Amino acid sequence: MPGRLDAKVAIVTGGGSGFGAGIVRKFVEEGARVLIWDIAPAPASTLSASLSPGSTAVFTGDVSRHEYWTAALESCVQTFGTLDILVNNAGVVHVAGPSHEVDEDEADRMWRVNVKPLLHSARVVVSHWIDKGIKGVVVNLSSVSAIRPRPRLVWYAASKGAVTTATRGLAAEYAEHGIRYNCVQPVLGETAMVAPVLGGIDTPEGRAIPLAGIPLGRLSTPEDIGAAVCYLASAEAGLLTGVCLDIDGGRSLL
Ligand code: ADP
Repeated sequence: MPGRLDAKVAIVTGGGSGFGAGIVRKFVEEGARVLIWDIAPAPASTLSASLSPGSTAVFTGDVSRHEYWTAALESCVQTFGTLDILVNNAGVVHVAGPSHEVDEDEADRMWRVNVKPLLHSARVVVSHWIDKGIKGVVVNLSSVSAIRPRPRLVWYAASKGAVTTATRGLAAEYAEHGIRYNCVQPVLGETAMVAPVLGGIDTPEGRAIPLAGIPLGRLSTPEDIGAAVCYLASAEAGLLTGVCLDIDGGRSLL
């Protein structure tokens, strides 16, 4: 059966674990070849080894540093011949706590890792697409907290608000080149990120707190996010740009 991403080549940042790994698995299932970019090499290599040979390669580097973007694009083009889809998924969260007590370095990290890669990728990837006439697709990982910020996680929410806003602005700006930008706004996921968000209450009682605000009664999974990102990246979503899809079990309705 033909896949929805047959013959496509993608980079997924933070692709070694959590939502990123779910996106990589779905992309490969749908026929794409994927450069798994992560700062942590071990989970990315384990994931790559578990998928069909030749479908993935691993790139190790920090998305907050411009020089890695040039190297990642080079590595992708050298390995797979081109680049069609970029998923800006790598992200970090600060330990939940009173917003006036969050460490300044931690707050800066939200900007460097969650937001600045949108600028780096525009400078490196989008300019490459414009030069080559490639109608590329970008999908950014925002968060439902962009529109429903949680107390004690405000600097994280603010960084995701910037991701959502930048996605819409970049979509408007690069549409004339046929380049699409969309994002997903997941609710808290069943991933490594859940522990710091719960701020030391990663117990059944602690986990019940965010669940109470989710009408469908569960956290998001890497499979939920993989399916949505795959759709946005595929030709089926060819007329969608600047869209922010809430994958949140209804959290944003409350
Ligand atoms: P999520 O819930 O968003 O999936 P995880 O913590 O499970 O959260 O996954 C985030 C991924 O992003 C991890 O694989 C992590 O190693 C990766 N990552 C974090 N910071 C960077 C960075 N600066 N550069 C590249 N990858 C990063």
